[in-house]
Amino acid sequence: MNEGPRIGVLALQGNFREHAAMLRRLGVDVVEVRKVEQLEGLDGLVIPGGESTTFMRLMRLYGLEEALRSFDAPILGTCAGLIVLDRDHLDLVDVSVERNGYGRQVASFEADLDLEGDAVPLRGVFIRAPRVRDAGPHVEVLAEHGGEPVLLRQGRFLVASFHPELTDDTRVHERFLDLVREETGVRA
Ligand code: GLN
Repeated sequence: MNEGPRIGVLALQGNFREHAAMLRRLGVDVVEVRKVEQLEGLDGLVIPGGESTTFMRLMRLYGLEEALRSFDAPILGTCAGLIVLDRDHLDLVDVSVERNGYGRQVASFEADLDLEGDAVPLRGVFIRAPRVRDAGPHVEVLAEHGGEPVLLRQGRFLVASFHPELTDDTRVHERFLDLVREETGVRA
């Protein structure tokens, strides 16, 4: 029997329901994570979009900040989830990010993105999105917008400045699950 992976979605705040729904469509056993104990036995974790300052505050309150630093499975961070993982916060992904970096006028927008290794463009929904200002040498760019990275991978981390959970396109989540399968193979 081939069981689907067990993936946590950080459910403190933000778009966790949409991520959970998309993962379930892909055959994943989803766990909503609000407590440290719920991280145990997970094959991966999603940190959704929302409000990064609120995430950091609640994560500290529930002891999740330390727990996430030592969590060793793949993590998908989208929008505020990218901010939480950057150099200035958990420092798990080697990127510098400017919060709300697309300014007030174009605070929210959609754009077709060229996805690395795929001829079909990916629709990116950007909502008061963070802007990636710098990425370290081990960070791989998987999609850009206006010449700037918007989907990046560093080892077991996949981060997007947009919201892949808000379209019907499951390709970002599928790439994350590929990563989970790779890592589970390595860890087994
Ligand atoms: N602007 C939010 C922040 O700074 C992120 C927006 C989002 O996740 N949609 O945390």
